[in-house]
Amino acid sequence: MIYSNILSSITRRWQALPRPAHAPSGLPDKRLVLELIQTALAQHVSPQYTGLGLMLVRVMNHAKVSATYGARRADALMTFVGQRLELTLGKALGHGQNHPALVTRLGETEFAVLTDASVDAAAQRRLGALLCETLNLAYPLQEVAVHVNAAVGVAACDQAYPDAQDLFQCADIALRVAVSRGRGSLVVFERSMREALVKHQLLENDLNLALQEQQFELAFQPIMALDKLQHVGFEALARWQHPVRGCLMPRDFLDVAEDAELICRLDLHVIGLCLRAMADWQARQLWRSGWFVSVNLSAQHFNRPGLCETLLGLMHSHGISTQDLHLELTESAFMQNLRVARGEMTRLRQHGFELYMDDFGTGYSSLSHLHALPFSAIKIDKCFLDPMVHNFEQSSLISTMVQMAQLLGIKVVAEGVETLEQLSVLQNLQCEYAQGHLMGAAMGHDMASTWLQAALDPVV
Ligand code: C2E
Ligand code: CA
Ligand code: CA
Repeated sequence: MIYSNILSSITRRWQALPRPAHAPSGLPDKRLVLELIQTALAQHVSPQYTGLGLMLVRVMNHAKVSATYGARRADALMTFVGQRLELTLGKALGHGQNHPALVTRLGETEFAVLTDASVDAAAQRRLGALLCETLNLAYPLQEVAVHVNAAVGVAACDQAYPDAQDLFQCADIALRVAVSRGRGSLVVFERSMREALVKHQLLENDLNLALQEQQFELAFQPIMALDKLQHVGFEALARWQHPVRGCLMPRDFLDVAEDAELICRLDLHVIGLCLRAMADWQARQLWRSGWFVSVNLSAQHFNRPGLCETLLGLMHSHGISTQDLHLELTESAFMQNLRVARGEMTRLRQHGFELYMDDFGTGYSSLSHLHALPFSAIKIDKCFLDPMVHNFEQSSLISTMVQMAQLLGIKVVAEGVETLEQLSVLQNLQCEYAQGHLMGAAMGHDMASTWLQAALDPVV
């Protein structure tokens, strides 16, 4: 069959090539694979071929394995993964010369599995599921057993792929969707995914432009002390004034900003705007000592060095004290590498920043992280407040969180307070601070200035 010919031609050519030094598993890299497929296609078939399928397999916990066990072991693990892929495919498809699949390594964390036309779309899906399952079985990495979490994107054979580049793109789109769905996901490419990706890409371009052209604004939501119902601070929330689509909320653009790795730039831009607003309020004497503004920091800041220095530089250039800016982090910030995160967080605390654990209680192990990391406060997520008033268990859960925080000597902010009943339960539980629509929704700079003025001169 002609398609088997293509694959065996690719395999023969690949076997004849010297092993590239940068592919430690002994498997070829992406550029090479693309070239091989391209050449084989040009020689063997018309543009209407339907004969190659591609599965991309990404090992999602490679960075974690590398951080925990070192780069050499992580690489040895990838060699095992490559071998297991070949073994599983051999068992599923049969061994021998006319083996209808070729495994290749693409860079640090990815593998590609090329299949010929004898592996139809349904068989490819079954094969992908089998790979996800077998890859997850433990690997003996010297004295420890390590598990691999993989996501698989499949571009099934059809007539839509005129060339190797296109086949790769379709499999890559499917892989991106699989990665966004989390570990162990298998996604088969569909045309609608390409449209979604185009939208995503357009938003990414707009986002880049928005950062250059300063299209972001801040909304400030008040945080109140519950004992006397007095203002203590704001949370600064990003708003994007899109030139065509109007005001966009964080849910409309944060995922794209995270994916495109623009989120750190966005956060630092937000912090710059925030410090400028604070400098304005301090210059206009709309500020009282002890008040603060808190900002959200993405987990990505902890994957790169220099966060503390960058923040100190910004504080210095705006003339704002570190005590006045609080930093909100979610658990994702320290899940990946607890040791690195702890070091960075300790330095931030030493320089006077307060650290809040945002969305407390929604993560995997909020409690153990609270013990291990230098937090000054927790923000109890809104979901714990929703059914609170009518649900004894829920309010005792909040009561436990408040007591535990008091024992640890850290403060508590309850988020998403909307009703007087919720407020009174929180006051009875001696929760210190609250934020929510009952106290005040997020507001622009001018309204926030008026709010501060009123907080300075309360009507008695
Ligand atoms: P968050 O940090 O949990 O912020 C609170 C969110 O809940 C805000 O939504 C706020 O408007 C909303 N909220 C506050 N009180 C109430 C209430 O009583 N009822 C209800 N239903 N909602 C309430 P927003 O502004 O849409 O922000 C959503 C999320 O986006 C934030 O959740 C935060 O995680 C993220 N975010 C916002 N700005 C930034 C930023 O500059 N950088 C980063 N990395 N994340 C940001
Ligand atoms: Ca927050
Ligand atoms: Ca929150």
